[in-house]
Amino acid sequence: MKDDNFLKENNARHMWHPMAHPADSLANPPKIITSGKGVRIVDVDGSETIDAVGGLWNVNLGYSCAPVKEAIAAQLEHLPYYSTFRGTSNDAVIELSFMLREFFEPDGLSRAFFTSGGSDGIEIALRLARQFHKVRGEAGRTKYLSLKKGYHGTHTGGASVNGNANFRTQYEPLMPGCFHIPAPYTYRNPFNETDPEKLAQMCLAALEDEIAFQGAGTIAAFIMEPVLGAGGVIPPHKSFMPGVREICDRNGILLIADEVITAYGRTGSWSGSRHWGVKPDFSVTAKAITNGYFPFGAVMIADHIAETFEQDETGKANIASGYTYSGHPVGAAAAIACIKETQRLKVNENAAARGREMMAGLEALKKKHGIVGDVRGGEGLMNALELVSDRETKKPLDAARTKTVFDTTHANGVMVRVSGPNLILSPPLVLTAEDVKDILSALDAGLAAA
Ligand code: PMP
Repeated sequence: MKDDNFLKENNARHMWHPMAHPADSLANPPKIITSGKGVRIVDVDGSETIDAVGGLWNVNLGYSCAPVKEAIAAQLEHLPYYSTFRGTSNDAVIELSFMLREFFEPDGLSRAFFTSGGSDGIEIALRLARQFHKVRGEAGRTKYLSLKKGYHGTHTGGASVNGNANFRTQYEPLMPGCFHIPAPYTYRNPFNETDPEKLAQMCLAALEDEIAFQGAGTIAAFIMEPVLGAGGVIPPHKSFMPGVREICDRNGILLIADEVITAYGRTGSWSGSRHWGVKPDFSVTAKAITNGYFPFGAVMIADHIAETFEQDETGKANIASGYTYSGHPVGAAAAIACIKETQRLKVNENAAARGREMMAGLEALKKKHGIVGDVRGGEGLMNALELVSDRETKKPLDAARTKTVFDTTHANGVMVRVSGPNLILSPPLVLTAEDVKDILSALDAGLAAA
């Protein structure tokens, strides 16, 4: 391994960082993380922090999960790669598909299509939704509906259903036939509605309206995150996703749950859809499926969709989609170990308990600090603090003061993520009550400094 001076001298000089301006990466060199243990990470300067970002919402079991590391090493030893394209398979992926069928049985999802991550999975779900309608003889159903504020990865399909302008504008024109409805985001919405239940009904009415406008027979699928993540942690009212399901059913529209963040325990339930009592037609999972140790994802497919494809005699159900790394045996072995460990530790229960403590603490911080405009979460361990310079006008806090909050929180031992005006928290699900206190007290110091 190269020494620290080499790392610092070459930091960001020969690579471009995702979601960053190349000039900014050069001017403000990224923190170089050199090791991780439990829920903590250490950077090249030796400063140790709790990773309240959990990698990127994915390191649910922390950085020392021995069973996952051992499974990866063992699989590399006996079969480091074999493809699952037509005609071949591998041992690990078969075992994983069996396991996932059991894991997602309560969600009515019984087949898996494997990917290298979340964005890949979104493309697969969007494609399979259109294909499903073609197989059934409804080739005119090609459009997609989604939520403003929704985040669905950065491939062109995902960016097209994405509801955040900053992930879209540089790459437009995107895919035609994608339309967005207002998100149930109580802090800012076009209806000026602050009651979550009423707002959910208004957004559902907007969905109905858009379907009538487009024509139900032209729409393939509606895609949503059970709790919106990157758009600023927006948990919808509990009536929202069931309402979406009902509207989709009534109009022959498929429901794609983007569970890239929410699957495997983060919301306090084993999946975000289950959290709201909804059975989606597709569920896109990735991230925590391997605890972030290997790039991998699984798109889970509902029984009735699977049957339609499997019983097709026209040839239209041939799946002309797939990645070199679909069903990668090392990823599959990591996922098997990870899901076993996730269930053994019942991380969903810990996420729910620690999530309640976190939410209560954040509410207290909001009372104390005027720059906290809104705190969101309450469904497991995913939270956001929306920072403002003025609570009346809700003007977002400027970048310099937001940086002060980040830097001071970091200096007090906690890494958080800044995303626009939001501080995002998605810590490992193995967090202790003591860690929650440490995160809250570091945030308290960060907010006071700004
Ligand atoms: N969907 C959601 C809800 C996500 O949060 C993300 C990643 N943050 C993606 C899709 C894309 O996943 P990936 O980065 O693994 O491609």
